[in-house]
Amino acid sequence: MKLNSIKLPRLNGAAEMQTVRLKLPERVVIAMSQHGGVPCVPTVSVGDTVKTGQLIGDSDAVISAPIHSSVTGKIVGVTKVLNVFGKLHEALVIETSPEQVLSEEVIPPFIDSREDFIEAVKRSGSVGLGGAGFPTHVKFSYDPGTVKIDTLVVNGAECEPYITSDYRTFMEEGEKVAQGIRMIMKYLDIPRAVIGIEHDKPLAIKRMTEITSSDSNIDVITLPSRYPQGAEKVLIHNTLGRTIMEGELPSSVGCVVLNCSTAAFISDYLITGMPLISRRLTVDGNAVNKPMNVTVPIGTRACDIMAAADLRTQPDRALFGGPMMGISFYDTEMPITKTTNALLLFSETVRDGDTPCIRCGRCVRACSMGLMPTELEHAFDKKDTERLKKLNVNLCMNCGACSYVCPAKRNLSEKNQLAKLLLRDSVSVKERVLYER
Ligand code: SF4
Ligand code: SF4
Repeated sequence: MKLNSIKLPRLNGAAEMQTVRLKLPERVVIAMSQHGGVPCVPTVSVGDTVKTGQLIGDSDAVISAPIHSSVTGKIVGVTKVLNVFGKLHEALVIETSPEQVLSEEVIPPFIDSREDFIEAVKRSGSVGLGGAGFPTHVKFSYDPGTVKIDTLVVNGAECEPYITSDYRTFMEEGEKVAQGIRMIMKYLDIPRAVIGIEHDKPLAIKRMTEITSSDSNIDVITLPSRYPQGAEKVLIHNTLGRTIMEGELPSSVGCVVLNCSTAAFISDYLITGMPLISRRLTVDGNAVNKPMNVTVPIGTRACDIMAAADLRTQPDRALFGGPMMGISFYDTEMPITKTTNALLLFSETVRDGDTPCIRCGRCVRACSMGLMPTELEHAFDKKDTERLKKLNVNLCMNCGACSYVCPAKRNLSEKNQLAKLLLRDSVSVKERVLYER
């Protein structure tokens, strides 16, 4: 069975731009919620001095990931920032010191068992770097006695326009991606891995095929360049031909899915002990003269990245993430988090008002999950939660494909996001986790 998909413009002008490390900002703003699950609580206070790599936020919750300082400096305040789900959460403001000092906590982990490995991944603060932000150790914490995982699926699809962060990871850190995959397979006893890359990235496919040529159990799979190729359920279907049923996890079909940049990070962490404190992101959009890929400390504000960008004009719209699933923000003091893979800056943006549905059916034909966006919209407008459940709104990935193809410019995907929030209060904790994946 072929899943529905759409074709998006390529627009990846930063693809062949080598990643540059930006100069250290004067301050960073580090959010306590950078992941799916429970936000962290600060382990440090205003006035404290912190070192690079030091733990500054933690939680006892099962689904959470610790947060570390990306700089050496002094905590000068606490503020609120938006997280990936559009909610305001606590953040620590750190003024950076001229001298950067590595924390004594940064030591390579000792690993002698599966449990050691999962604990190390947890302490690293690793989350899905493709944008989803689900804590990596939680994905790895299945019970091998009852759950049989036969394949690690590595997500290198990067299917949204403009974003080239994962592509640059393949090109600049392909060895680390492969080594991360090997380590995960070894410690979790997973016999096979597949790396899915869209066919419009031939250099990445070639590079990873060469790097893994002696790994008989790692295959590079060329995927059609269609959207949303990188969505977990779509990726599993298109790499392994397996279908995840509603409410189920990838483990139900014998696989674990991991972003390629997360695999590279894990490889690095096992050697250096440096937790997740920086990331690569793409800076692009029609307000940018020269697109680029940059590495910055987590907590760097958009204004500091914009100051380093070659801007053609003053942007009137800014996004963290891609044009399909990214979040728009209004305040350039907003910081990047672990999940920010792009900063897109646009000018002369026009927002057409919506018009009545003409029942063309394009939204239905665009939906890879087989949903009926028009029916979901009606149910949401009536606040009919029973109907929303029957229409499987929880299967919606908010990929935005339905909104994109709609000639009436209806906000279908956005309404589905709101519909899922409407349902949240009436579902179990387990289902809530699925919503946030
Ligand atoms: S946003 Fe949801 S309903 Fe719309 S195409 Fe994507 S999965 Fe389907
Ligand atoms: S694509 Fe837009 S106009 Fe066409 S059926 Fe869907 S909601 Fe209606």
